[in-house]
Amino acid sequence: MKVYKFGGASVKSAEAFRNIAHIVRTYGGKEQLLLVVSAMGKTTNALEQIFDLAYNQQNFESSYLQSITYHQEVLQELFPSKSHPVHERLEQLFLQLKYELQRISPGANYDKSYDQIVSFGEIFSSTILHYFLQEQALPNIWVDSRKYIQTDSNWREGRVDWNWTERLIKRDLPAVLEQQLVVTQGFLGGTTNGFTTTLGREGSDFSAAIFAYCLDATEMCIWKDVAGLLNADPKYFKDTVRYPEISYQETVEMAYYGASVIHPKTIKPLANKQIPLYVKSFLDPAAAGTKICDCRFEKLAPAYIIKEDQCLVSFSVKDFTFISEQSLGAIFNALSELRIKINLMQNSAISFSICTDFNQERIQRLIQTLHDQFVIYYNTGLRLFTIKNYDSDSLNNILAGKEVLLEQRTRNTFQIICR
Ligand code: ASP
Ligand code: MG
Repeated sequence: MKVYKFGGASVKSAEAFRNIAHIVRTYGGKEQLLLVVSAMGKTTNALEQIFDLAYNQQNFESSYLQSITYHQEVLQELFPSKSHPVHERLEQLFLQLKYELQRISPGANYDKSYDQIVSFGEIFSSTILHYFLQEQALPNIWVDSRKYIQTDSNWREGRVDWNWTERLIKRDLPAVLEQQLVVTQGFLGGTTNGFTTTLGREGSDFSAAIFAYCLDATEMCIWKDVAGLLNADPKYFKDTVRYPEISYQETVEMAYYGASVIHPKTIKPLANKQIPLYVKSFLDPAAAGTKICDCRFEKLAPAYIIKEDQCLVSFSVKDFTFISEQSLGAIFNALSELRIKINLMQNSAISFSICTDFNQERIQRLIQTLHDQFVIYYNTGLRLFTIKNYDSDSLNNILAGKEVLLEQRTRNTFQIICR
């Protein structure tokens, strides 16, 4: 069986939904197929905003309407007949979202409430896809991934209970897949007591990999609006090249450094079972794309990865003593408590620096926690550049005209933090 993952861009319009039906019919072939779908277009960002307003007891009505109208317009184009049951189903879901928004109480747990609201994006898109494929003579069953991907209550980044998840998926889905297609949501999980969790932004790739792993898929494919896995983001670089084939290891590292093509957690479950991952363009589905598998290449094109909106934090001890293992311990503890992820770190005799994604609130809390022990400075609005498999040309290319705040290199990887 195969797992296909369709991201936000592949369900952003009525046209895009039609294209999915075409891909499923043409390339899904006779094989068993499970489809994992993200929220439509930029819906998750919109829901985050709506949620923020509601959480702060502000008026969310117009933002809510804007997002609902976007869905209704696509729906109208796909199902012109007003009497089609999809309309009633979606209207119920829209109302349910509104009800949940109104219900958020002032002191509620922010992250937990976030998951209950922001998850609606995938519920909407998967429901539309379910009905639409049905209409296109592609019989399928809508599966609620919250009932299968079981997580703890680490809201907004649920940690998967693999044993339980695998047991549930293996118990039900193989028999269903023998009969028909399965349509389910990316990004979502559930707790044993019935709450929704999310797996982290852009987590739908990871969801697809969880299903692929638990179902022993023969392959997984991520359908995107790019030709495959490229050595740089075409938004920033002109002459990008596509890797026809690349190893799991290289891909994990690229994702770790911030390449946004694939969610970093996606590779491990696939690599553990040697399930090949294809990245293909939904705009040109017949093209080769990239195959990610257990392979080795002597020389790969240098990969350029940019992480925006970085913050460089430095901790100095107050009394000219050295940065000790004990002080590092205190710093790491605080970072872990606050879920601040280190993208790069460096230490000198009396100071220690980390580069992290900027989050004002968490940085403030970090300072509160540690200001007794350290003098803490931070710079924001920075970019972290990484080149994997660098050579002298790629270094010159990156360094030209930049003010470098920090530089680090190993045999394979070169990183700088710049303004
Ligand atoms: N819709 C979610 C997001 O935008 C999950 C995903 O697209 O992978 O983060
Ligand atoms: Mg998305």
